[in-house]
Amino acid sequence: MKAHDGMYIDGAWRPAAGRDRIEVVNPADEQVIAEVPAGTAEDVDAAVRAARAALPGWAAVPAPERAALIEALRDVLVARKGEIVATVTAELGSPLGFSEAVHVGAPIAVASSYASLAASYAFEERLGNSTVLLEPIGVVAAITPWNYPLHQIVAKVAPALAAGCTLVLKPAEDTPLTAQLFAEAVHEAGIPAGVFNLVTGTGPVAGQALAAHEGVDLVSFTGSTAVGRQIGATAGAAVKRVALELGGKSANVILPGADLAKAVAAGVGHVMNNSGQSCNALTRMLVHRDEYEEAVSLAAAAAAKYASGDPTDPGTRLGPVVNAKQRDRVRGYIDKGIKEGARLVAGGPEAPHAQGYFVAPTVFADVTPDMTIAQEEIFGPVLSILRYEDEEDALRIANGTVYGLGGAVWAADEETAAAFARRMDTGQVDINGGRFNVLAPFGGYKQSGVGRELGPHGLAEYLQTKSLQF
Ligand code: NAP
Ligand code: MG
Repeated sequence: MKAHDGMYIDGAWRPAAGRDRIEVVNPADEQVIAEVPAGTAEDVDAAVRAARAALPGWAAVPAPERAALIEALRDVLVARKGEIVATVTAELGSPLGFSEAVHVGAPIAVASSYASLAASYAFEERLGNSTVLLEPIGVVAAITPWNYPLHQIVAKVAPALAAGCTLVLKPAEDTPLTAQLFAEAVHEAGIPAGVFNLVTGTGPVAGQALAAHEGVDLVSFTGSTAVGRQIGATAGAAVKRVALELGGKSANVILPGADLAKAVAAGVGHVMNNSGQSCNALTRMLVHRDEYEEAVSLAAAAAAKYASGDPTDPGTRLGPVVNAKQRDRVRGYIDKGIKEGARLVAGGPEAPHAQGYFVAPTVFADVTPDMTIAQEEIFGPVLSILRYEDEEDALRIANGTVYGLGGAVWAADEETAAAFARRMDTGQVDINGGRFNVLAPFGGYKQSGVGRELGPHGLAEYLQTKSLQF
């Protein structure tokens, strides 16, 4: 695959300061497909300086003009959709259909939403004898994971641009090619030099240098809770704003009276999509004891239909996980589930193919709330089905983890489901199969994070407030 041997800084591709390289591997066949430079603190410093220098100019561009440039960026993403889809599939392993509909489709919708929000948002409000100005926070450090390579970037860059901020992006080392294509799109859209900068590299070197850089005003991070905690501590010490989108262990609560077959099928799909590598994946299915065995058989049958294999083959529904470390980690959790006494009803720890980082679609029954697989984020195609006695029991189990990112409730009617959802300690709940909404605030309760992304709430994260009294 095509790759730039440089960093996109101040509107051009520039040679990296160091000589280290990152190999990009296709997880479906374990082949090296490209190399990108591994950034150092020196590259990060050059990028932050470029973003700082571009800030006053960009912040002064009238919001409708910023909106027009975000729209132009969206148009480039649309025009280059095929190329981006192929790149996401090559470096992440996601089946082509899912790459097109979700990995590229969703960020295009998010970019569109911020083009309209930038044009319509009230960056000024009147409160009594005050005029309140909502001003860009400044230079943003965006640190993104590999699980949705383009979406995670656009969910930070589009609102930051709409707010009038400038940025430095450090994408995941596993998926830098999608990030390079995004930088090309920014350039083609005519966004001024220095407003968006890209430094590829590893987390502990480039990521850490960026998060700790004194020229950064806001660190927006998506990834693991362990790294998020560290970034939050560093930002706190510097009295710097921080937004953290971390892990999840979301509950899919099926209440008596719900359409069981529909709820189970949707729940299994939610976990198997993207090979279970979604932070809001509904990895815990909660079923009433009277319907439990029926739900287990339905889930096992649904999981078995997730044929794994070459993600470029149209028949494939389940691709590999992103790398060998994730595969080993996920298999370790499957072993642990068996050891702790859960009942394996589909899949298992064995490799389904000789090559590639594949994990079989796996379903566990008889999972109890205290088991490791019911508490920790697995980030693989593994579903746990838990049994509850009554609604109070279901609520205790649903709320009984350190996480609170997503969730779903199914009931006979929307009112019953929504009443239960109000009692859940989590940032999002889908009611009777409610669809993803690019305008709805996305983010976590408890250890799932700080702050919100998407829509007007996501835009507010990139603004700071000034009051003028008259
Ligand atoms: P991660 O290490 O937290 O990676 C997220 C981003 O942070 C990547 O760009 C990473 O760079 C960077 N990073 C790593 N260490 C850093 C540091 N010390 N300072 C600054 N930046 C740093 O996550 P991961 O290792 O890829 O995945 C591990 C687990 O995290 C998964 O199994 C899953 O449980 C969770 N996860 C959650 C999400 C989510 O959307 N909430 C997404 C991905 C993963 P590198 O790419 O070089 O590591
Ligand atoms: Mg990592």
